[in-house]
Order: sequence, then structure tokens, then C-alpha cells
Amino acid sequence: MTGKLLKVALDVPLRCCFDYAAGDFVVGVGERVFVPFGSRLLSGLVYEMAEPGDDGFAGKIKPIMASPGDMPCLPATSLDLCRFVADYYQHPLGQVIAATLPAVFRAPEVFTPPAPRLLYRARDCASLLASLPARAKAQHRVAQVLAEAQTPAALRELAAPAMRWVRDWLAAGWVEALPEADLPAPPAQPAPALHAEQQSAVESIAGAQGFASFLLFGITGSGKTEVYLHAIADKLRQKKQVLVLVPEINLTPQLVERFCARFPAARIVSLHSGLNETERAVGWLAAQAGEADIVLGTRLSVFTPMPALGLIVVDEEHDASYKQQDGLRYSARDVAVYRANQAQIPIVLGSATPSLESWRNAEAGRYRLLELKSRAVSGAVLPTLRLLSMRRAPQREGLHEAAIAAIAAAMARKEQALVFINRRGYSPALACNECGWMAVCRHCSARLVLHLSERRLRCHHCGHDAPVVHRCPDCGNQDLKPLGRGTQRLEASLQELFPDQRVLRIDRDSTRRKGSLDAALNAVHAGDADILIGTQMLAKGHDFPRLNCVVALEADTGLFSVDFRAEERLFALLTQVAGRAGRREQPGEVLIQTQFPEHPFYARLLERDYRAFANQSLQERRALRLPPWASWVLFRAEAKQLDQAVSFLQGIRSCFPALPGVTLYDPVASSMVKKAGMERAQLLIAAELRGQLIQALALAMPGIEAIKARNVRWSLDVDPIEVG
Ligand code: ADP
Ligand code: ZN
Ligand code: ZN
Repeated sequence: MTGKLLKVALDVPLRCCFDYAAGDFVVGVGERVFVPFGSRLLSGLVYEMAEPGDDGFAGKIKPIMASPGDMPCLPATSLDLCRFVADYYQHPLGQVIAATLPAVFRAPEVFTPPAPRLLYRARDCASLLASLPARAKAQHRVAQVLAEAQTPAALRELAAPAMRWVRDWLAAGWVEALPEADLPAPPAQPAPALHAEQQSAVESIAGAQGFASFLLFGITGSGKTEVYLHAIADKLRQKKQVLVLVPEINLTPQLVERFCARFPAARIVSLHSGLNETERAVGWLAAQAGEADIVLGTRLSVFTPMPALGLIVVDEEHDASYKQQDGLRYSARDVAVYRANQAQIPIVLGSATPSLESWRNAEAGRYRLLELKSRAVSGAVLPTLRLLSMRRAPQREGLHEAAIAAIAAAMARKEQALVFINRRGYSPALACNECGWMAVCRHCSARLVLHLSERRLRCHHCGHDAPVVHRCPDCGNQDLKPLGRGTQRLEASLQELFPDQRVLRIDRDSTRRKGSLDAALNAVHAGDADILIGTQMLAKGHDFPRLNCVVALEADTGLFSVDFRAEERLFALLTQVAGRAGRREQPGEVLIQTQFPEHPFYARLLERDYRAFANQSLQERRALRLPPWASWVLFRAEAKQLDQAVSFLQGIRSCFPALPGVTLYDPVASSMVKKAGMERAQLLIAAELRGQLIQALALAMPGIEAIKARNVRWSLDVDPIEVG
């Protein structure tokens, strides 16, 4: 056999590359190839090339089967990024590479990109019209709109046979077909003049030489997005590409429109989970070819190859959705920082409530802090925050009288009100008052949630779904009571309290159909809803001009969690929720219902002093040696029986050598022991320094992988953000 020896990375759970012979194919590093693997054909990527050794291709080295040439070679920088991620998160390299590629490039099938979309336009509309018979009214209508470029879909909507006529006119030379990209750009929407703080933030970012991380800390509505837009404009002028990461839920058509309106001449590619595989591949290829100027995407787009990358923006950098919670458990924010360093470019992390990790980095001087202290729209001030104690308080349907009065006042002013509760369904429990029975999930240590409108009892952890029970299975009592409330029950209560208002519920259940979330948000913007009920889906990002009254229910749940980050998350969530109110000239009002008004957490929230909250929390964590004062890796295991999971973790623990600075805890049962029929345990390894942890892991991994995982499923999570 002849040719080079190829080290090919494959999407298999093994930490190595596989040897193949190039044979007659001319391939380069980063090239996609199809190879035989056992009895299967797999798609892989050439990671390295070598000259064959003295013994040539002795033995069993097989040649590759094909090099499809449908994807440009992945650049060395992307391979290096994947290598870093594989090492840091202890994940097989081939699987890391596969996870970062569009799905069409993971399969051993050649990808054919769709033809570019064509638009149609009359060369001379008046002459075209004059050439048509006077009676052909429908043809006239179609010809008329062809004065401007039209999509086939728009033309067919006007008249079903429109495209047949257009093809005739095309043949006769009346009409021309244009690739979408060739259209002249509409004028850019003017940018507002920046305030002094915004101006100096933009100048710092634009003036940065090489790698620099900025933490843009600004209250909601302080004009952070405007800072991004100006910093982006600066890079686009230099013909650089920009990567903008946003949390999944924030990538709304409104945001994309805001970018398009500001940069009409730029090619903006938006990458998110709502795309089909072909759309994602087309956007990804445009980015890799340097044709896309801006990539606006969620978590996964942090890996998009961009040859002329000049700036990375991570909006709402504290958001938990940047951390992937299964498979390759990476933090897109942290990977973005590595990437900015690799490319020697600036990165901007923005938030009103930065993660304590980032806050600590700013304190330590690793990030440069840029601060926006007031709301950007003149006259707009932060809403007033008020606690409503629910203890012995006058209330109806779980709403404090003062909350009801505030909603009524907003209605009288013809404004909108938002009632926030972070729990979907009708009620989180169904119980028997006689004997204390509760509906629980058969597969999880969790209660079933009553979904009244669908008449189902559902488990929010495993998806178990059963009809509503009407008799207590233990004592036969027929009077079962829903306990507590969720969005559906609140919707019913509010409709009863405010029969003349339009109540709109927005949660995962009400927005399951594709496009339904956008439709609901449009309805809110159009003023077709008066009282909104929402979960955290509604807490973030949205800018509803007529919303000045927000009521938050059941906030307390975050105060007594086993997870040490729960308070940080609650602070961020309530700040976000409050940030929906009063974004224009009207002052906003936020009411928070609580059973624990004297809890110190609320004092800090009410002072609205994130800085004080962050500093205090950091001190507490320092005393307890919690992240960011320590680095953690969490091993999770699940099995039919808890002791199987625990003893498996014991085995993992014994693979770690004793190292200074590294603490090996004992495996413990997870706080929710049973989930989807499996019993779960976890093992925490902590280190004072990140480097110590990575070193310990590297030493332990070979032993860990040699353990036979019989009847146990396990995973490891470096820098876990959810523990318990
Ligand atoms: P954030 O991203 O911090 O929530 P935005 O950038 O979305 O804030 O700004 C909030 C509102 O203020 C938007 O309507 C935006 O158009 C407006 N805005 C931002 N900066 C300015 C400015 N310099 N002058 C006038 N309006 C501004
Ligand atoms: Zn009973
Ligand atoms: Zn369940």
C-alpha cells in the first residue's frame, strides 16, 4: 500500500485516533473522510498525518473508503480548540469533534448544499405590464409586485400559477432572477448616540490589542446590547467576523431583526436548535468560508470556524444554558474565553448579574470591568421593588391583596402586567386530606404535577404521564386536593379575578408547537394581551414597552436548596424578572411574594446592590472553599440499586492518587435519589487550583476507564453548575 498514514478522529467513545492509509486519495489534515470501522462505515476527520513506518502498512491498516470533499478542511485552530476541550472536559477527541460539526457532516453520506435561493424582479415593470392582455387581472397583479424583488413563495401566495408565468417572462427576458445575496441592502437603522459610559466601554473594547476579556456589567436596560452593536460595527469596518453568543431563549426573531436592521449590508447567520440540519450546515459553511460577517448563535455555535474572527460577545454570560448538561458537558462561555485567547482577540461577557466566577475574575484583574450604571432610555428608572409578606396576609387565590390591587391599577392605566411563577402545570401535587397520600412518580423520587386542562398527572423529571386519579388509592377518599399552584392554576385564578382582561400564559407547555412562542411574544408586543403569566422563559431578554407591573410568586423555593448556587441563580432570576418592568418612561413596580421577608437574601435584593451581594457571597464561599475558590469535578453514577452506583464511585475514587491540594470526598446518594427508574449517586473531587484538578484527572482517567461499568451508567462533569 502507498500514500500517507492518517490518524483519523472518529465519533466513538474511545480516547484515541485510528490509523488508516490514504491510499490513492489526496487528503489533508482536517479533511472529512469515510472509513470502514468494524462492519460499519463511519465519517471521521483526519487529525494528523504521518509517513508510514519502516514496516510500511504492515498488518491490518485499512485504506479510507472516500473523501467526499463536501466540507472544507477544518482549520488547525478548530482542531486545537477541540483538543483543548477534549483534554479539559476529559471527553474523547473524536466525539468532541463530531459534536462541534453540523449533523450532516457526522454521517457517512455526501452533503449536497441546496441551490441558493433566487428572487425575481421585472427588468422594466411598465413594459411587462403593457405586454399583458388587459383581461389577465391576476397576471397584472403579479407583474405589478415584480417592480421589487420577490420570493417564489410570496408570488405563489398572490396567485397559484404565478411561478409558471414568471418562468415564461424569464424566458422572454421581461424578468430576471437574482441570488438573494446580490440584492442592494436597505439603509441601516441609525444608531443612537452613546452615553458617556457606553462610549468609554466601546472605546476600551475597540482599543484592545490582542486578547482581552471584558466583563460588561450593567443593569437591565442600561444599553449593553447597544455597546455590543457599536463594538461589532467597529470590527465589521475592519472586515472582521464577529461571534455573538446568546442563551437559547433569547435568540428571538426580535433580536435577529435588531441586528439585521443595524447591519443591513452584513451577512448574518443565526445558529440555534430550531434549524434543520441543512440550514445549520449552510450557515456553518458560510461562517467557515468567511462569508458570514456575524454569527448569532446559542451554545454550540462557539465552535463555528470563523477565519477572520475579530470579536466574541457572550450576552447574559451568567446564564445556565451555556453549560451543556449531558454528553460533552462543556461551558460555552469558558470555551469562548479560551477561543478569544487562541485568536488573540477581545471578548465581551455581558450581564446585569454576572456569574460569581466572572465577578471573581474581574476582581482578580483577569477580566476588565466595564460598568453601565443607569438605564439607557432617558427618564427610564429602575422599578421599585417591594416584598409582600404572605404570612397571615389577606390573599385570594395565592395572590396578596396588594398584588391584586397593583394589577388592577395597571389594567386601569391600560398597561400590561406580568405574573411570574417558575412552575408549570396546575399544581405541583395532588393529595388526600384524609390519609396524607400523595401522587408520586413510580420511577422518580418526585411528586406528580397535576395538568388539569389536559387531565393528566405528569412527572417533570422523567416524562411519566398518567390519567388523573379521582379516588385515593390508599383510603378510597374521593375528595383529592391539588396542593400549591403552577402557571395553569394561576391562569384560571387571574381570569376569574379579572374577567374582562385577556390573560396569556407563556410556558413550555403553551409553546410546544414550533412558532408558538414567537406568536405569543408578537401578541404581547402588539398589545393583544393584558395579563401575562410566565415562567423563566419570560424572565429574560424581552423588551415589552407597556409592561410596568410585575408580581413574582413562590420565589422562596431557591432559598433552601441543597445547591450552593441556588441563591445566586435566584438573585439573577428575580433581577431579570424585575428588569421586564418600566423599560420606558413609566416607572415600574415589582412585587415579590414571600413567606420569609426577613431572610437576609431579600435585604440584599431590595438594595439592588449586585456588587454587595456578589462580594458577600464570595466571602461566604471563600470560607467554605466553594467555587470559584475551588475547582470541582463531579462524577455521577446511576444503577438499579443505589449501592451499585455508590460502590462504582468508590472504585473511581480509588483511582485518584493522593495529591496536595486535592480533596477526595466520599460518594453520596444524590438529593433526588431516584430518577427515571434509576438510583443515583455522586462523587465530588475538589482542588484548590484548576491545574491540580486537571492533573489529578489526567492521572486517574486511565484507571477509571479500565473499570468495568457493569449495570452502571456514569459520567463526569468538570466545573459542574448543578450539584445535589
Ligand atoms: P440591555 O442590553 O442592557 O438590556 P439595550 O441595549 O437593549 O439594554 O437598551 C435598552 C433600551 O435603551 C433599548 O430600547 C435601546 O434602544 C435603548 N438605548 C440603548 N442605548 C441608548 C442610547 N445611548 N440612547 C438612547 N437609547 C438607548
Ligand atoms: Zn387517602
Ligand atoms: Zn418520574
